[in-house]
Amino acid sequence: MSIMKNYVNNVLGGLIEKDPEQREFHSTAKEVLTTIIPALEKNPHYKEARILERLVEPERVISFRVVWEDDKGEVQVNRGYRVQFNSARGPYKGGLRFHPSVNLSILKFLGFEQTFKNVLTGLPIGGGKGGSDFDPKGKSDREVMRFCQSFMTELSRHIGQDLDVPAGDIGVGGREIGYLFGQYKRVCNSYEAGVLTGKGLEYWGSLARTEATGYGLLYFVKNMLEDQGRSLAGQTVIVSGSGNVAIYAIQKAQELGAKVVTCSDSNGYIYDPNGIDLAEVKAIKEVRRGRIKEYVATHPQAEYHEGCSGVWSVKGDIALPCATQNEIDLEAAKILVANGVKAVGEGANMPSTLEAIAHFQGNQVLFAPAKAANAGGVAVSALEMSQNSLRYRWTFEEVDAKLKDIMKNIFEDAKSTAEEYGCPGDLVAGSNIVSFVKVADIMLANGLV
Ligand code: GLU
Repeated sequence: MSIMKNYVNNVLGGLIEKDPEQREFHSTAKEVLTTIIPALEKNPHYKEARILERLVEPERVISFRVVWEDDKGEVQVNRGYRVQFNSARGPYKGGLRFHPSVNLSILKFLGFEQTFKNVLTGLPIGGGKGGSDFDPKGKSDREVMRFCQSFMTELSRHIGQDLDVPAGDIGVGGREIGYLFGQYKRVCNSYEAGVLTGKGLEYWGSLARTEATGYGLLYFVKNMLEDQGRSLAGQTVIVSGSGNVAIYAIQKAQELGAKVVTCSDSNGYIYDPNGIDLAEVKAIKEVRRGRIKEYVATHPQAEYHEGCSGVWSVKGDIALPCATQNEIDLEAAKILVANGVKAVGEGANMPSTLEAIAHFQGNQVLFAPAKAANAGGVAVSALEMSQNSLRYRWTFEEVDAKLKDIMKNIFEDAKSTAEEYGCPGDLVAGSNIVSFVKVADIMLANGLV
């Protein structure tokens, strides 16, 4: 085994030994570390400086108690976190996730991913992630507000526009960011607009931030297809999820002439042979905060199936997983390939398992990895920070044009780096190497910190 392969295996083994239960974190670390071996071989001084050991260790992890009162007057206790992973390139930046599955392994995986993803945007942001095991599902607005206020009362000590800038993720959208911002302002006694992104437009959120992750995903996939002389127009697209990423991915896919036939939530999925009616999905998810199965009540030609993983059995040309981590396992990947899928674009974070990625790449499926393909959301968050610092606002068209450029650059960087390092067409390796080399060089330049 080569020296660098051995080095990577030792570091990965060390992670498993130290925190054996952090499986999600191990799998993202494995994906990144095994694909950057060519960069380690080119730069042997990284090993001497123990860059990998330093990279996999978050700079700071904060865990705290969140106590709040529900509508019945009962006391509830949740756990809150912020993982400040890497500040080589700027203030820690990354979303907050409110979901019962949240634990340190999930947040370390997301914070590690975010560190690499954020470098790809080319903007001055480090990487972080946070959240809570609080479940917003079924909670009233007042309960969500009380939870957010309690959560921010503690979090406010650890964040700031030049220190750490949270945003949304699963379970945290405009409503939650509004309550969090209100409490930050109250506790800190200052109007620091750039402390959170994804804010409402009235209090200096960026135009196009809501759409950015979904739109950015489609811009990336469009670049990837066009590079191969293909087009999105006329393609059948399978989307999973029905949250913010899925909704704007569907919208842009339709605008670009594709036909989207599915979407899903954690209970099941919809198949609409006529193409998904996005206005109805928005009404269900954004206005009524309902379940996706309600779609068939107004669209009798559509089918609802219990169980969200069945969505991958639908035949299509392009699959866009936009729900959550590990939603495409090897079995799902095999079905997609057998059904003739030509491209996969990851809208969620780490939706494909390592085995699924290997299966796609081994069967000539064009594969757009999450870090690159879904970076549009955080890129526009960074543009929101710029606008807040300038105390200025760009138009929707200006932000959208910048987003398009950023996604094009990410695709081109990943593609050319994959070629340079001897793995042409492998956008997973290409994007990991681009980010790794940039972060590693800064860490070296900044000394032993
Ligand atoms: N949660 C999003 C992500 O996974 C956005 C983070 C942000 O805007 O800071 O990239």
